Amino acid sequence: MNANPTDLLRQHGIQVTAQRLAVLRAVSGRPHVSAEDVTQVAGNEIGAISRQAVYDALGVLVEKGLIRRIQPVGSPARYEDRVDDNHHHLICRVCGRLVDVDCAVGAAPCLTASDDNGYEIDEADVAYWGICPQCQAEGHAATRFDPSTVDRRSQGRASAKKKSTPPIKT
Ligand SMILES: [Zn+2]
Ligand SMILES: [Zn+2]
Repeated sequence: MNANPTDLLRQHGIQVTAQRLAVLRAVSGRPHVSAEDVTQVAGNEIGAISRQAVYDALGVLVEKGLIRRIQPVGSPARYEDRVDDNHHHLICRVCGRLVDVDCAVGAAPCLTASDDNGYEIDEADVAYWGICPQCQAEGHAATRFDPSTVDRRSQGRASAKKKSTPPIKT
């Protein structure tokens, strides 16, 4: 983010407040930061800021498209200000470290759905799960998560989810 944060807020029609500025700076300075970390970073900058104020500011910034919210399965949401492209994320299963990867192929949505079901697709959001180099070096072997186990687990989650939602009768 090159532009001045104050200008950015104004350009997006957001009222400029010290809290929103601090939250935006916290997200710009540390890509993929969690709301908890934002609370800490922004608090260091402007003094006490409530968790609710942070969530409110994050909500406004996401809604106006200044920042993007990433919600990896089973871990807290992260926020980033890299919103002008269709990039994806690599996530470590062990430590949760999250890094950017560029579009898988060409421009957005960069992945062709096997069946678009008539939707006009404008974005693809891919999470690549694995073990980061640091965790590998600490002995976390990728083989521990062999694909068959992972598949079974995620299928279990998916079917559990389905059960909780009553089927829509037509
Ligand atoms: Zn890791
Ligand atoms: Zn990212």
